[in-house]
Amino acid sequence: MRTRRNVISALTAAAFLALPLAPAAFAQQAEAPSKTKVVATFSILGDLVREVGGERIDLTVLVGPNGDAHVYSPSPADARNLAEAKVIFVNGLKFEGWIDRLVQASGTKATVVEAAAEVKPLEMEDDGHGHGHAHGHAHGHGHADEHDEKHAHEHGGLDPHAWQDVANAKLYVAAIRDGLAAADPAGKEAYAANAEAYLARLDALEAEVKAAVEAIPRNRRKVITSHDAFGYFARAYGLTFIAPQGVSTDAEASARDVGRIIRQIKRDKIPAVFLENVTDPRLVERIAKETGAKIGGRLYSDALSDENGAAGTYIAMMQHNIKALNAALAR
Ligand SMILES: [Zn+2]
Repeated sequence: MRTRRNVISALTAAAFLALPLAPAAFAQQAEAPSKTKVVATFSILGDLVREVGGERIDLTVLVGPNGDAHVYSPSPADARNLAEAKVIFVNGLKFEGWIDRLVQASGTKATVVEAAAEVKPLEMEDDGHGHGHAHGHAHGHGHADEHDEKHAHEHGGLDPHAWQDVANAKLYVAAIRDGLAAADPAGKEAYAANAEAYLARLDALEAEVKAAVEAIPRNRRKVITSHDAFGYFARAYGLTFIAPQGVSTDAEASARDVGRIIRQIKRDKIPAVFLENVTDPRLVERIAKETGAKIGGRLYSDALSDENGAAGTYIAMMQHNIKALNAALAR
């Protein structure tokens, strides 16, 4: 017993002796450069920001994995994160209908960078492919011009889902690189190097996506999704996507739209319908049942999966989507 007690007191003494070292360690930590606080509005954008920002940034993503940024309700914690941020990355193209009000409410001094600023936007119009001509698209700003804004969306608003074209994701990366360098000039070279390395990976991804679509016979390049999130993918890679819901998820598909799509699936022999990670699966499941089209799996449109899921990063998401499309359509 006595021996053991002696050992314990010896250890305690050693612990006390070690204490004077602690303040030095703390001081060292405080001298290390603090990370730049950055906010990104949704998971896909957050992944691109993380790739470019690397170790230099402390990133907060507002709408997380599998979250729907069209209809998000910001929390007081979001406002605090904005207030502390040096730079805020948003998609733009009216994707985040709630962001302007949140920025204002937070009182943040941060620069707001629109990642899609350099993208050539896709106009939404009634082209007979189920684009959102009949879908209300009000974002609930409660402004006096809400009616006019809603009207504008019904007739040629902009499609926000630009990231579904890898060429656009590269434009996002350039905007992120420049936005981070402006917020943290000491990191300019690091951001440029990270962006360059990541852009090379996006080049490879782009080639992969093109090859995957090439492998699908031309007459089978048609799919149904629940909301119109793949317009840029369609424009870039030559697949037709038909969606009963418009470009936003905030309006339900009308019975007339669903009826039109069911007739179109039968007439055009559309082989597959897809579920999305951000939308209610029941509508697409009903369409599949009524038409005999098979459910081709799940496409990730507006959000990543969680880290360990099928689409934990932007690159993994695009690879998952082309694999699912390929499995359902290629013969
Ligand atoms: Zn969407």
